[in-house]
Amino acid sequence: SFHKSKGQHILKNPLLVDTIVQKSGIKSTDVILEIGPGTGNLTKKLLDAGKSVIAIELDPRMVLELQRRFQGTPYSNRLRVIQGDVLKTDLPYFDICVANIPYQISSPLTFKLLNHQPAFRCVVIMFQREFAMRLVAQPGDNLYCRLSANTQLRARVFHLLKVGKNNFRPPPKVDSSVVRIEPRKPAPDSNLVREFDGLMRICFNRKNKTLGSLFRQKTVLSMMEKNYKTLQALQQSQGDMAVGMVGNLDFGGTEEDLKMEVDDGDDEMELEDGGEGGEGSEFKEKVLSVLKEGDFEEKRSSKLTQQEFLYLLSLFNKAGIHFS
Ligand code: SAM
Repeated sequence: SFHKSKGQHILKNPLLVDTIVQKSGIKSTDVILEIGPGTGNLTKKLLDAGKSVIAIELDPRMVLELQRRFQGTPYSNRLRVIQGDVLKTDLPYFDICVANIPYQISSPLTFKLLNHQPAFRCVVIMFQREFAMRLVAQPGDNLYCRLSANTQLRARVFHLLKVGKNNFRPPPKVDSSVVRIEPRKPAPDSNLVREFDGLMRICFNRKNKTLGSLFRQKTVLSMMEKNYKTLQALQQSQGDMAVGMVGNLDFGGTEEDLKMEVDDGDDEMELEDGGEGGEGSEFKEKVLSVLKEGDFEEKRSSKLTQQEFLYLLSLFNKAGIHFS
């Protein structure tokens, strides 16, 4: 009796479990973190490959079943099971993480892992196919989006394996993919990560519009200007000490609310906020001159590389414009 709400689709194909373990590149010295071990089909093979496994499992019945399965075997002293919600658990030290999780927690779990310190070698994780394709999407690909850009700023992501729904019992509604995520070392500065996401929110709001028209929108300009003025005021009244305090201003998005955004790709879509800002405001001219300087006005986010976005961000920052 599996709970649909906990996403308990058990991997039934032993060959597939072997393939996942092989592709994980586990070393015999590795401490492995497993998330959502379920009945332990993968856990057993992880114990064969690595030094030890720490498994985090939400369902107390599964925890019991897992303990029963390995009790009195040579595996038991190399396995530690933690009962709890992985999103609410302080993660222990690990070298590599392997996870087959319910798909509802894909996004928060990915960012929890990317924020984890000390940095680990990699995560090998099963996702819903579309989420996986978004993670690995490159400029020009249909699914290239804010999630792709933010994740790839912080990690290298590889698609390892397509997994059809019939490998699971009960079969889920969607196909899956196994992905490998390797955090970049050193990790990018956390201010940069925040600002980059602030910029991505704007750029991927309508990824097929030109940046020139995106940055002419009233709501975008007024949000940016408010941020700009708050920052200027802070800097004037408090000097350089204020710079450290800009983290919680207007754009304020945390990684947690980063969801897959739906982009209809419709270039002719009307702007929701009723069009472009008034002509000739000083701030608007400042923003447009940044776009011109980098030759970005006619470019579209759907085609821009990470390097180009970082360059755009640096031009905005040089003009005193920030996104966090
Ligand atoms: N790893 C097993 C396998 O491959 O057969 C089971 C995978 S099943 C898709 C997901 C597992 O994650 C279930 O055992 C479920 O109880 C557990 N789970 C669900 N939400 C969780 C959470 N927030 N934290 C930890 N485990 C969770």
